[in-house]
Amino acid sequence: MLDQALKILKDTFGYDSFRNGQAEIIQNLLEGRDTVGIMPTGGGKSICYQIPALILPGVTLVVSPLISLMKDQVDALEKEGVPAAFINSSISASDVRDRLNGAMEGRYKIIYIAPERLESAAFLDWLNNVNLSLIAVDEAHCMSQWGHDFRPSYLLIKKMIDRIHAKPVIAALTATATPKVTRDICDMLNIPAENVTATGFERDNLFFQVIKGQDRDRFLESYINKNRSHSGIIYAATRREAERLHAFLIKQNINAGKYHAGMAEQERNDNQERFLYDDLTVMVATSAFGMGINKSNVRYVIHYNIPRNIESYYQEAGRAGRDGEESECILLFAAQDIQIQKFLIDQSEMDEERKRHEYDKLQQMAGYCHTEACLQQYILKYFGDRDAKGCGHCGNCTDKRESVDVTRDAQMVFSCIKRMKERFGKTLIAKVLTGSSDRKIQSFGFDKLSTFGIMSDRTQKQVSELIDYLTAEQYLLPTGGHYPVLGLTSKAVEVLLGKRSVLRKENVQAKQFVVQDAL
Ligand code: ADP
Repeated sequence: MLDQALKILKDTFGYDSFRNGQAEIIQNLLEGRDTVGIMPTGGGKSICYQIPALILPGVTLVVSPLISLMKDQVDALEKEGVPAAFINSSISASDVRDRLNGAMEGRYKIIYIAPERLESAAFLDWLNNVNLSLIAVDEAHCMSQWGHDFRPSYLLIKKMIDRIHAKPVIAALTATATPKVTRDICDMLNIPAENVTATGFERDNLFFQVIKGQDRDRFLESYINKNRSHSGIIYAATRREAERLHAFLIKQNINAGKYHAGMAEQERNDNQERFLYDDLTVMVATSAFGMGINKSNVRYVIHYNIPRNIESYYQEAGRAGRDGEESECILLFAAQDIQIQKFLIDQSEMDEERKRHEYDKLQQMAGYCHTEACLQQYILKYFGDRDAKGCGHCGNCTDKRESVDVTRDAQMVFSCIKRMKERFGKTLIAKVLTGSSDRKIQSFGFDKLSTFGIMSDRTQKQVSELIDYLTAEQYLLPTGGHYPVLGLTSKAVEVLLGKRSVLRKENVQAKQFVVQDAL
């Protein structure tokens, strides 16, 4: 059967060989095994259900949240001679009927729908009257409460499948699933864990970098000026910031557009089109921009603010270099931005448990900014790839500064946390270590601890940064939401026992900057 799939790959889609994971997913589906496919953005998920759709006898139903993309996808399929149609709120009721009848008569092999369609009784009736071979759930992470883009309408999918008499094969596809989200998808769709195919998330052509302590506006201006001929996206955390940055770039004569949910739809779409067709070089946007954007020649993605979690970051940064050419993904880190993200979580309508979960994810995103390990590897490990290797070309892998031994400093921090019974957060710990006269410290009696003031030769900011580093490197485990409490991990205990040493580059850099400034 795989021979037939390969023939379709060549004849219909014009490609010579399968990409990583595609053959396995296609074979699973053709042999009737429900499957979860996890592949990076641009990895080629569509073909994983489109080829089986052409081989299996009946109709394939694709559930996708991207109404704006359905038409493009259908047009592309029709161009290859694949009979396909989409059904969404943009077409009339009589067109809907016509297309549904067409599928029953075998006029279409693939039907795209938005999940909201599953609320329609007429549609559910149709499902039991059509010869359905395969259901593909695109962007399957939207099913999970623990995903970064949960959509309640996706819960209808499970109900729909339960109602279908002759059960079709199920393919759930996503680019961003942590192990927890994958388990959730499997549970909801009754897919055994061994039917999960996850392919290399790494994107060799992306160069990750975190930039700290620089004037961000100046950095943007000079970076974009140096890359004037290249297309890029600048992500900002809020609409206001996106507006400000856009105005700033226009003032610098940079050919920039903007995109955020506060703009009129027409203007937003115009900007998107112009960017896609290289009429605008730079797009300044909030996270509203880009789900499903398939512009291949984006050479850089700069995050002006820290995003709310690694899933969002990898998805947004991953819009760079879809053509396989070398591209840069730069995050401009400023500690105060973490507060903006916390504020956004606070203001949201999520329940308390969910908010705590979001804080934890934000904390792991902050860890990305503080780690000295390979940035790509940090992301891959987050997605559950324990064997991920260093990429060799990110900002951290190419950082040539010498590491210094900071074991003594780390021991002081850990021992202070232990004496504070692992019940307090970063700020208070840093205050105790630097010997602050804060009244709160006296009221807890922490000024009597032997660790009080043992780092008084540093500033509170320096100690906070050291704690951030130790958290990122998983010596400390933050728990408890908005104001996380820091506890010691087994790694920290080994350091306290003298069985492990801690190396760090950060301090050296700070000194070098001072020297350069003085010169
Ligand atoms: P995503 O995983 O992001 O949904 P797509 O399915 O849109 O990715 O595929 C991304 C691009 O890769 C498309 O242009 C697609 O035609 C192309 N592609 C998919 N499979 C292959 C293959 N086996 N060989 C070459 N190109 C492929």
